[in-house]
Amino acid sequence: MLNMNQNCDWDTRSGFVAITGRPNVGKSTLLNTILGRKVAIVTPKPQTTRNRIAGVKTLGKVQIVFLDTPGIHQHKHLINKYMVEVALRAAADVDVILFLVDARGITDEDREALKRILAKARLEQLIVAVNKVDLATPEEIESTKTELEETFGESQMVFISALKGNGVEQLMKMLIEAMPPGPFYYPEDSITDQPTSFMIAELIREKVFMLTKEEVPYSVAVVVEEVIKRKEDVWVVTAKIFVSRESQKGILIGKGGSLIKKIGQQAREELEALLGVRLFLDLRVKVKKDWMNRPDTLARMGYDLKQL
Ligand code: GDP
Ligand code: MG
Repeated sequence: MLNMNQNCDWDTRSGFVAITGRPNVGKSTLLNTILGRKVAIVTPKPQTTRNRIAGVKTLGKVQIVFLDTPGIHQHKHLINKYMVEVALRAAADVDVILFLVDARGITDEDREALKRILAKARLEQLIVAVNKVDLATPEEIESTKTELEETFGESQMVFISALKGNGVEQLMKMLIEAMPPGPFYYPEDSITDQPTSFMIAELIREKVFMLTKEEVPYSVAVVVEEVIKRKEDVWVVTAKIFVSRESQKGILIGKGGSLIKKIGQQAREELEALLGVRLFLDLRVKVKKDWMNRPDTLARMGYDLKQL
């Protein structure tokens, strides 16, 4: 008789890693570097990642599932409250919490986020990646390290540049080491669990972020309404960009439609390269008053408020 006792020897190891830390510290960049492909959007502006994004990395007999969580920070809108909850919840039931800080210095926001995480998780669950070493002076790195050493052991700290790749290999070694015996959760060649329509929406949102200023980007949500495959490699995508005020709609469309055209063009070019298809992108801007505080709208956009 086959003995399928679950405690007995898996010949594989697997686990979940939540990438967390304050906005803009480089979480999405790190995920993309590890996966060798863009799955999370990266912008120079904080608070871009809204939903949880999973990335999968399989190395021989080890599979690591990464969750790119939204930053942990103070909240004003319902949407922000949602993001923080998602982050903390993810932190509680993963094997490793990968906490990112900026090598140029620990901030009060970092300290506060760490406190909140440690209230839900065990200290041994944490690995701290000190990121952006390429931007920091040796003195800054040293003082960051000194403060972290008050809480973390040598084997829990790693110094990296998510952008340039320094230290990422060592970080991977530490993560592989931390994975318990277990089955693969995804096929070996998976990279992400996100549906294509979500990736498309996120990429459009990234372009809006890059091409608009001040409060506009934070008031934007993108919903992909339809993906029609005319042929296997010719897709027609219809997407709506929601804003919360009439004035923002004007800004987003731009003079004679110039800005929305640019957003569409940049999104299309990058998506075509990413997906390997020809793409026709139909973008519409719609005003939805105060959508960021409306549970019905948030639910329709895929934010699961039951998690709150
Ligand atoms: P997130 O909000 O934590 O997901 O941060 P992002 O990954 O979106 O990165 C925020 C900004 O920091 C982007 O402009 C990145 O290019 C930049 N960045 C991230 N990691 C590094 C790094 O190691 N070095 C440098 N120079 N820039 C980085
Ligand atoms: Mg991010």
